[in-house]
Amino acid sequence: MAKIADIEDRSYWHKTAKSVPLPTQAIIGGRQVDARSGKRFATINPATGETLADIVEGDATDVDDAVTSARRSFDAGHWRNQSPLARKRVLLKLAELLNAEQQQLAAMESLDMGKLVRDAAGNDIPTAINILQWHAEEVDKTYDEVAPLPVGNVGLIRRVPLGVVGAVVPWNFPLNMAIWKCAPALAAGNSVVLKPAEQSPLTALRFAQLALEAGLPEGVLNVVPGFGETAGQALGRHMDVDCLAFTGSTAVGKMFLRYAGDSNLKQVWLECGGKSPVVVFEDCEDLETAADQVVSGILYNQGQVCSAGSRLIVQDSIRARFLDLLTERMAQYRPGDPLDPQSRLGAMVEAKHAANVMRYIEAGCREATLVAGGNAVTVNGRGSFIEPTIFSDVRPDAVIAREEIFGPVLAVLGFADEAEAIALANDSVYGLGASVWTDNLSRAHRVSEQIVAGVVGVNVVDPVNPAIPFGGFRQSGSGRDLSRHAAEKYTALKTTWIRFKN
Ligand code: NAP
Ligand code: MG
Repeated sequence: MAKIADIEDRSYWHKTAKSVPLPTQAIIGGRQVDARSGKRFATINPATGETLADIVEGDATDVDDAVTSARRSFDAGHWRNQSPLARKRVLLKLAELLNAEQQQLAAMESLDMGKLVRDAAGNDIPTAINILQWHAEEVDKTYDEVAPLPVGNVGLIRRVPLGVVGAVVPWNFPLNMAIWKCAPALAAGNSVVLKPAEQSPLTALRFAQLALEAGLPEGVLNVVPGFGETAGQALGRHMDVDCLAFTGSTAVGKMFLRYAGDSNLKQVWLECGGKSPVVVFEDCEDLETAADQVVSGILYNQGQVCSAGSRLIVQDSIRARFLDLLTERMAQYRPGDPLDPQSRLGAMVEAKHAANVMRYIEAGCREATLVAGGNAVTVNGRGSFIEPTIFSDVRPDAVIAREEIFGPVLAVLGFADEAEAIALANDSVYGLGASVWTDNLSRAHRVSEQIVAGVVGVNVVDPVNPAIPFGGFRQSGSGRDLSRHAAEKYTALKTTWIRFKN
């Protein structure tokens, strides 16, 4: 592994990016395979527009092959019947192999979706590995229950794996999204078929290659790259998939509920969109830190974060001062080469998505006051980048206050008192994250209690930790990723009632 010092060296990252081998084939039944159709699709580097690799384009036939091999491995008990200790060791070994390739994985993610390599290497990849280790450690430390039954009877209540788990994930945190689903599903003993997003299949494929190397039996983890309408839909409608775990947009989440209803009533767990509020009260003493966190909260990953604090709700008495603090900080985030560790803002995932974000910015210019940014730009004459953008005087019914933009665009709304702040925060179809800034402990409790969100940070924006459940209320979805509670999605309660003979 490269030394940490190399992370500051731009030429190191360009060299790593050039030399890292890019996986291109699907992984089905423990083998690297082409699509039955022979088709491939290009995965693009959005910072340059260049094609990185031609990836196998799986469709319904390949998904069916993958589900068949997952089912076979599950029924044979190759994985689920191994001792908890043995399963833990395989998953920890996988974490070790990923750890040894951290820099390569970081370069791959930066190339594939325009993410800053400093964020990928400094945060995303180590976080993903940490989460895998966390779930691995859980395998041999989880107890089941014994029911309080009359003498002469024993009721064993156990959590058992569901069988074949399908996972369909987005492009914003490619390795994390794969691991957030696969790690708890595998830890529980399931077999998995994963479809990564078409924009960013590389690290999910490498993850599955390394899983085989770590000793995960063939067929237990299958990865079928391809498109949502074909491969994703086939997984959602498959009659032999027991559970479908999805992260992505609310619109596609709704489709997965329909697919399940039209097919076999598979369990569906959804982590969808968000429009997370950050509420800053005038009694917040450290506005400097609040401003730092609001800015990094909306600019991390170019704002392409489901739980990004994209609605700033700030008390009228401090609004002008707080806006000054934000604009000062945002000026430091100039779009730059994602492989340059000095860059502070990377590329948008693709030109099409950047164009969508620009349409929101145009709507914002009509309905609010543009305070900073607002332009699409290139870096070295290429790629899809967008300046950090702030709108103030945003009305609660404005499009930019209601819809998820998924870009570096902050909508600022004012409020007079606590009741109005809570009403504004909850005025959304979403309920994923929220953040409250105050030095009044009673207010912190009161307000966080009333905000409808899966995670409310007090004096912190968008905290993520393997021990904390992640997921939302309302149209942000159902079920929780991370923590012990993730296992609830990938297991069912099974009771065995034993009556003894006297
Ligand atoms: P998306 O369009 O919903 O895609 C997510 C996944 O679903 C991709 O693998 C996609 O395949 C697939 N898909 C697309 N259309 C499909 C269809 N008709 N049937 C079955 N599968 C289909 O979302 P995205 O644009 O990649 O990601 C951004 C969204 O994800 C945002 O709304 C964001 O809030 C959400 N997100 C949520 C969380 C969370 O935990 N709550 C985390 C990250 C992101 P293709 O790639 O081939 O289109
Ligand atoms: Mg790509």
